[in-house]
Amino acid sequence: MKQRLTGLLPPATLLAVILFWAYAPKSVIDYPWTLTIVATAISAWLLLLEWLFERHADWRMNWREFFTDTFYVVLSSTVISRATDFFADAPLKAAKAQAGLATPWLEHLPFLAQVGLIFFLFEFGQYWMHRAMHNWTPLWLTHAPHHHITQLNALKGYVGNPLELFLISLGVIALLDFSPVAILCAASVGNVVAGFAHANVRADPPWFYSYFFTTIRHHSLHHSVGYEETRCNYANSMILIDRVLGTYREGEGILVGQDERRRLSIKEQFLFPFVPVVDAIKARRERRDAVHG
Ligand SMILES: [Zn+2]
Ligand SMILES: [Zn+2]
Repeated sequence: MKQRLTGLLPPATLLAVILFWAYAPKSVIDYPWTLTIVATAISAWLLLLEWLFERHADWRMNWREFFTDTFYVVLSSTVISRATDFFADAPLKAAKAQAGLATPWLEHLPFLAQVGLIFFLFEFGQYWMHRAMHNWTPLWLTHAPHHHITQLNALKGYVGNPLELFLISLGVIALLDFSPVAILCAASVGNVVAGFAHANVRADPPWFYSYFFTTIRHHSLHHSVGYEETRCNYANSMILIDRVLGTYREGEGILVGQDERRRLSIKEQFLFPFVPVVDAIKARRERRDAVHG
């Protein structure tokens, strides 16, 4: 009975967030910090649930994990989000204006239809980017630090090499004329689903949620030790895409990490993609020294 009730936590949180954006007064929606405040409230809620309904003792939050995770939350909402605006969304908007591309009818679709469409478009792009990261070494090197985390927690979705965080934030929404509040709502929906998919919470949602949305079972399996084991369940939030495209795998992971399951420091996470290049240069220099020496 208790298990069934905790299983309702993800869908109930999702519903609360959608209702908030659907019915919030205009002044609240227009306030530029509302999305950040909602995202922080979602994170605080997930951390509280981790404390109340722990899934695995091995994944228990400690100060070192908390500070690392918080560092990445701040990085994502400052540097990464500005980089996405500057290098991707602003050029897309300029190209859209220049080409005279306009889709004003999108804004007149029902609110939920807009949110669903934005969520799907973003997730579909993320799915392919994430799948490419698991299939092409240069991209894998940017994504691997996210897989080197040795426990799952509420904020772990934010943890990764900055190059990866930038790549995974790219999308085509800037080309389309959705209502701004629907875009904000879709972002919060993503925060809730991806948050629960990483959180150490004993909540296994019923089929009407887990058939469409990624859960901790799906995503913990994706975090399994061993590179080959990670190549399934790519959808960050919309597991339905994996089901349709044949990359879905059933199960659950408890032991998470890569290689020897050594935890990387923030510095190591930042330098990770460049290590093979530095090693190759060093090896070449040593060979040259050996020949000439
Ligand atoms: Zn991955
Ligand atoms: Zn993850």
